[in-house]
Amino acid sequence: MAWEGPGFVDRHTHLLRVAAGRVAACDPSDPEGVQAYHRRVIERWSTPMDEPEQPLALDDGLRGALERALDGAAALGLVEVTEAGMHDWTYLEALLALRARGPLAVRVRLLVASGIADADRMQRIGDPWLELVGVKFYADGWLGARTCAMRAPFADRPDDTGILFLDADTLARRADPFAEAGWTIATHAIGDRAIEVVLDGYERLFGSDCPAAAPRIEHAQVLAPDLVRRMADLGVVACIQPSFAVADARTARAALGEQRWEHAYRWDALVDAGVRVVAGSDFPVAPLEPLVGLQLLCTGETLDRRRTGAPTLSLERALAAMTDAGAGTVVLSDDPHRIPEDEVAGIEVVEARPAAG
Ligand SMILES: [Zn+2]
Repeated sequence: MAWEGPGFVDRHTHLLRVAAGRVAACDPSDPEGVQAYHRRVIERWSTPMDEPEQPLALDDGLRGALERALDGAAALGLVEVTEAGMHDWTYLEALLALRARGPLAVRVRLLVASGIADADRMQRIGDPWLELVGVKFYADGWLGARTCAMRAPFADRPDDTGILFLDADTLARRADPFAEAGWTIATHAIGDRAIEVVLDGYERLFGSDCPAAAPRIEHAQVLAPDLVRRMADLGVVACIQPSFAVADARTARAALGEQRWEHAYRWDALVDAGVRVVAGSDFPVAPLEPLVGLQLLCTGETLDRRRTGAPTLSLERALAAMTDAGAGTVVLSDDPHRIPEDEVAGIEVVEARPAAG
């Protein structure tokens, strides 16, 4: 029985970067490599969003690759994607050229990497198909590599509290011209200390205007009750990854120990506290398929049904985080409410219809 509902939106992906053939600076399956990379970056007072890259060439190869990537995203049921850290303005030029020929396969939103963002030059496009939305900053490392910034040492590394790339003052100072111009500020923060520092930075930056500005924290994995409360009070938006709790379950337990693990990945606690929760795959770290993410988020199990004990969200809450009726409509071969949660990834996408307004 076909089902029509709000379209899937991916609010944190690296789709364009992958399409352009850019290899990641480090491989997530190689924790030591990630750690070495994060150390190199902090040693030169930089962040992963500020590292210079080889310029992209604007040519048919790039335009074609981006077009195919957007077609592929639409085939998976997505109606909108947000590139979480655009490191080169050439992506925008290539997308504008595609857009000049007609509507894009999915709506595209761009968060500009802090390293190339320029408040004097950035302008809104005013196009439902293609829009600049804000700037992405990067506060700490990753959990698997034990480089996220922690309040207390990792359970399995008693002398190590991870890596903090930005302190609250630096974040507030750097984000200020963009916040002033009304751009969304989105900051990568995984460890509890990084989340706290980013909240301090947002409080300094926005004061009582924080809820209206709705700045984002990307990932927000190692939560604690006080951080959840502050996120709710400040009106900070959490951008979570539907498959991370499952993918990280084993390593998160080892890195955090049972007590901290209990508060980690608690998207339900965020929703209960009134925090706005949106979702993004973080492709290519996790699959782009929203139906795969939806199943993992609702079951807390791997696709081959191995139980991970990861926290979950109800189907209603998961869909609310992963879809946006204003961005478009998706038609599925089955109603996700009517089939068992562990079969959701098998639903077929009939059609994705992005909204043109
Ligand atoms: Zn990412």
